[in-house]
Formats: sequence, structure tokens, C-alpha cells
Amino acid sequence: MIQENVRKLLEEIPGNVTLQAAAKSRTPAEVREAVEAGVTVIGENYVQEAEAALQAIGRPVPFHFIGHLQTNKVKKAVGIFDMIETVDTVKLAREIDRRCGQTGNRMPVLIEVNSGREPQKFGVLPENLEDLVREVSELAHIQVQGLMTMGPFSGDPENARPYFRETKKSFDRIRSLNIPNVEMTVLSMGMSNSFRVAIQEGATMIRVGTLLFGPRAV
Ligand SMILES: *Cc1c(COP(=O)(O)O)cnc(C)c1O
Repeated sequence: MIQENVRKLLEEIPGNVTLQAAAKSRTPAEVREAVEAGVTVIGENYVQEAEAALQAIGRPVPFHFIGHLQTNKVKKAVGIFDMIETVDTVKLAREIDRRCGQTGNRMPVLIEVNSGREPQKFGVLPENLEDLVREVSELAHIQVQGLMTMGPFSGDPENARPYFRETKKSFDRIRSLNIPNVEMTVLSMGMSNSFRVAIQEGATMIRVGTLLFGPRAV
């Protein structure tokens, strides 16, 4: 079932859009099946789940962190993930930089934008994005590669369109600033119910869970 879902989705999306499997609450066996069917990035919300998956299936494709990262988990996270998509404060960026400095690594990151300006959501507000990008760009052990957004959830994906569109505008604008150490190449947006709209609005990577794996138990 997972294999078929992955194949169908890969057939539908343009070849230049990366399909990331959002793996929260899935078993390592399910994650492996998705990879075997052609998923090229695994997205994990929890450090512990990622560790379990890595132990069980190794690292056949890059692992991205897509949850909320607490500073006390950064040390572990930088040893596990190939990209952190949810950098939204200077404090978090500095801790990633410090920990990567200790091991001589450089972490690719996306800046998470709270495009819906929802108080209960993480992410930098669009009006503060440029300042944050500039501050993070000065950290030697981090490389900013793009933006990530969730957007407000709604049953109708058309409601997400303005937020995806605004995030794409920010993405293009930041890129045009040519900030040293900032490369705007990855725009991560769109989930099971909104990926079509996100791709129309310029997503280069979609994060899909339910549509690949079925409804979550929790
Ligand atoms: C769960 C999750 C997704 C995927 O959600 P679905 O609706 O199951 O496709 C995407 N991004 C993040 C950050 C998530 O936590």
C-alpha cells in the first residue's frame, strides 16, 4: 500500500520537486518501505524516533528534522540529521552553530516562517525573517539553504494558497539580496492535503505523511 501511494505521488509531482516522507509515529519498517518505493528524504519530528529509525534501517536517504527543536536536544540532533528545517530563533541557531563547531561540521538549515502569523505556531514572523536570516548567515557552522512553512491548517487547501504565495515571495526576495553564506534553493511547503497548491506556488520540497502511510493512530 505504501509503495503504491509513493509511486502514485511521484508520478504526479514534477521531477524537480522532492518528496519528503513525514515519518512521525510510523514504524521503521513503514519508513523503509517508503524509501524502497522512491522517497528521497525522511522527515522526523522527534529525535528519539529518528534514532530508532536510523538504527533499524540505516541512512539510505538524508534525514531532515521537521519538528520543534529544543536547545537541550541540539547536541543529539546535530549528530543525527542531515538538515534542520525548523530554525526560527537566533538562540537556536547559535546553539546549532556551537555544537557543530565542536565537531567541525556545518549544518544545512531552513528558516521556518510562521506565514499564518498564528500565535500557537513556531516559526519567525514574515516581517522578522530578513533580520533572522542575516544573523544566522554570520554563523560559520550553519548554512541557510532556504525556507520552510506549515501555513494554517484548513480542510480546504485553497485557504493555504496566500500563505504559500507570501512565503515564495519572501524566498525570492531573500535570494535577491545575495547575502553571503545564504543559498535560497529549498522551499519546503505543502502536506498531504495541500501539496498541489504548494507546488503551484513554488515549493521545491513537499512533506507528506498521511497520504503515503495512511491515517495516524494518534
Ligand atoms: C506531520 C507533518 C507533515 C505531514 O502531514 P500530513 O498531513 O500527514 O501529510 C508535514 N510537516 C510537518 C512539520 C509535520 O509535522
